Amino acid sequence: MGDAVNSVTSTFRPSRALSKVGPSAITRITAATAELKRQGRQIASMHLGEPDFGTPENIVEAAIRAMRAGDTHYTALDGTPEIKSAVQEKFSRENCIYFESDQIVVSSGAKMLLFSAFFATLNPGDEVILPAPYWVSYADIVEMMGARVVVLPTHAQDSFKLRAEDLERAITPNTRWLLINSPSNPSGAVYRKADYEPILEVIARHPQVWFMADDMYEHIIFQDEPFVTPAQLRPDLLGRILTINGVSKAYAMTGWRIGYAGGPTPLIKAIKAVLSQSTSCPCSIAQAAAAEALRGPQESTRRYLGEYRARRNLVMSELSRCPDLKATEPEGTFYAFVDWRALLGASTSKGQTLTDDEDLCQYLLYDCGVSIVPGSAFGTPGFFRISFASSEAELRLGMARIREGCAALK
Ligand code: PLP
Repeated sequence: MGDAVNSVTSTFRPSRALSKVGPSAITRITAATAELKRQGRQIASMHLGEPDFGTPENIVEAAIRAMRAGDTHYTALDGTPEIKSAVQEKFSRENCIYFESDQIVVSSGAKMLLFSAFFATLNPGDEVILPAPYWVSYADIVEMMGARVVVLPTHAQDSFKLRAEDLERAITPNTRWLLINSPSNPSGAVYRKADYEPILEVIARHPQVWFMADDMYEHIIFQDEPFVTPAQLRPDLLGRILTINGVSKAYAMTGWRIGYAGGPTPLIKAIKAVLSQSTSCPCSIAQAAAAEALRGPQESTRRYLGEYRARRNLVMSELSRCPDLKATEPEGTFYAFVDWRALLGASTSKGQTLTDDEDLCQYLLYDCGVSIVPGSAFGTPGFFRISFASSEAELRLGMARIREGCAALK
């Protein structure tokens, strides 16, 4: 039966848009990890960017109430009045940004909003500036649009934050967007007011450049200085800033698929045009749950933060026992970005030489039983990403395996 289905695939031809995009490194690692587990291997999973907590009960209850009340139909394309006003209140309460209703769109996950915003604005030849390390999907989405990714490397000595002078040099008449994700997946960098200000000054001088702020990890910051987002810092630039956020990470709601964005009306209208011919409205039940998440008690986000802080301390203390690995302490998120370049060219006990970070990840997965993501997936070879969104027991096991695996290299 399977063969019969595949027999027609000889004429299958992917679109040009897909030609540069393969399955992401994380998808490959997830599949390899699942296969090893299926074979009975015990793998410490440290590759997934997904909180291991359950969605808080009040949010689950709101979804059940919505189903019982018959909220099971299509809603307005950009979200129900209830979720849109919850998003408005959130932006105003937490970020001091005041968006009108037509400046807000709610969709099936923040990723769909990133995709739609790029789809709505990019043409072949346009450029998007991504400070590296960057989240895997940005570059792939931009390339799917036929636009060009301009990678700006950042450095551990700058806590992986973009320098304004590097940005200034990279801007051309074709630059359409600068995208900054703070707190950053995978580096854990958190841009403070003083970090954003010189960057926004550069943006102000180049009217063709728009700013996309991906604030997905807003609630996971370990420093005392409060979270800031560009739209609250430069009201004069509000006409070209898109602020993207969502409930996936903040409320352990990855499976509910709700993201939201605020920005200038013409851009939001263009994003809605993309959504109207792709996902249509987001899930009605998930919208009711997300409204409760944004409006209800926020105690769970504080509890998660305490947990992440303890896990970060555990991971950093374990890493400090690995003489060949270097990591900057993450200021936010649940990721640590580790420099393993001191081990480049080392050999495993089976005689395999580690020539790049794909090799290291394969070695740690197949020989040592721990899954991580190579830095090259984030545009930064020589590093790997550890996720500490898993239980303390799993982290202890994974970190011990990384330590022993690295110590065994010659
Ligand atoms: N932005 C960043 C930086 C992420 O890490 C993720 C998910 O991993 C997303 C956006 C997508 O979030 P969502 O689940 O809302 O699509």
